[in-house]
Amino acid sequence: MIPFEYHRASSAQDAVTVLAERPDAVLLGGGTNLVDHMKLGVVAPSLLVDVSRLPLTDITEDPDGGLRIGAAVRNSDLAADPVVRARYPALSRALLAGASGQLRNLATTAGNLLQRTRCVYFQDVSTPCNKRDPGSGCSAIGGYVRYHAILGASPQCVATHPSDMAVALSMLDAHVVLQDHEGEKRIALADLYRLPGDRPELDTVLTHGQLIIAVEIPAPPPGARSNYRKVRDRASYAFALVSVAAELVREPGSDEISSARIAFGGVAHKPWRAHEAEGVLRGSPATEDAFARAARAELAHANPLAGNEFKVELAQRTLVATLRSLTEQASR
Ligand SMILES: Cc1cc2nc3c(=O)[nH]c(=O)nc-3n(C[C@H](O)[C@H](O)[C@H](O)COP(=O)(O)OP(=O)(O)OC[C@H]3O[C@@H](n4cnc5c(N)ncnc54)[C@H](O)[C@@H]3O)c2cc1C
Ligand code: SF4
Repeated sequence: MIPFEYHRASSAQDAVTVLAERPDAVLLGGGTNLVDHMKLGVVAPSLLVDVSRLPLTDITEDPDGGLRIGAAVRNSDLAADPVVRARYPALSRALLAGASGQLRNLATTAGNLLQRTRCVYFQDVSTPCNKRDPGSGCSAIGGYVRYHAILGASPQCVATHPSDMAVALSMLDAHVVLQDHEGEKRIALADLYRLPGDRPELDTVLTHGQLIIAVEIPAPPPGARSNYRKVRDRASYAFALVSVAAELVREPGSDEISSARIAFGGVAHKPWRAHEAEGVLRGSPATEDAFARAARAELAHANPLAGNEFKVELAQRTLVATLRSLTEQASR
């Protein structure tokens, strides 16, 4: 057992101040990922700053129809929120597709966003891993890659981001509100996450001393329909092989798609916003043929590893099925 200290933050400012004083302190949300990593020896912080009990537990509607979600809102509470269920069904479904009821009762919004990859080598400290131990090598390349990336990977790291919730938030154009010693900042979720490049140890652009205090999502466009679909090895309690969060808006009284927002999970180091597919769909009729063209366009850039080639076809089929479900909903 490696000893560590515990500090329960009295306010967001207190957390930021304590972090600034201690370079090896880390923030504790529900602890469902961090504490596992401490047990496995993946991380060994000298101080845990508990932010799970800060008054950041509100889900509030903005006057413009958007939503602000406190960083300490539990995954279960967010999934069950009536406004989230009615207006952001893809978000509610993504949350409910993740982990288990017990874990969702503890896991926080910020902690979920910042959970680390489930690459088995990252969690096994007896194996080389550039993300855990920069410069040591990547055991996944040539190893077990069923859950690994097919888009945006690098020779240094082929891991995927594991969060279901982050995929839905990426599709919804969410922003993350941060607090640090300079005050509050707001950044797009799309800019929060990084591709591995030659610094795979960095999952995000956050620096030490930055606390996530909230997530904001804009109002969905009028007439939007959205869904989340997750393909995994077991029906529950399993991470995504591939997942899709998608939203379609059709011209009133017509089959033409006026806007489409799509993000993939399980395929890259970050939630993968499918801009190419969105471009193909915009202005197209909502047909199976257009869905397949959009899926092919996005996955044309895929670069699978020996052992996960199946994910290219799986991602295309999952996107088509998700889009089809939205048109079926619409015609009900
Ligand atoms: C068996 C199992 C199955 C799972 N299955 C799934 C799944 O299918 N899909 C899925 O999406 N997830 C799954 N999870 C992961 C689970 O969703 C995460 O463990 C959880 O969301 C993490 O939230 P937390 O609050 O417990 O974070 P913690 O473990 O407390 O923290 C995670 C990270 O976030 C940082 N952090 C916490 N709060 C803040 C803050 N306010 N500001 C800045 N940094 C912060 C911590 O320092 C740490 O680095 C699974 C987990 C387990 C154990
Ligand atoms: S894929 Fe990334 S996380 Fe996994 S072993 Fe390679 S460097 Fe480590």
